[in-house]
Amino acid sequence: MFLMWIVPLLLIGLVVYAVSSGNIFTNAMKPVSSRMCPHCNQTAQSDWKVCPHCGQAL
Ligand SMILES: [Zn+2]
Repeated sequence: MFLMWIVPLLLIGLVVYAVSSGNIFTNAMKPVSSRMCPHCNQTAQSDWKVCPHCGQAL
């Protein structure tokens, strides 16, 4: 049965592609004008130079 092998392989390929391309699911949930602070994971505006929550330079 060829299809029994190709379907799970396609699903695994899609998951690997989604993860390697920067997690399309969480990117779709966030507004475009904001991003996450790498230090405290709070949302910050894309034009902010410093995180207002922890002071991390963005
Ligand atoms: Zn922060």
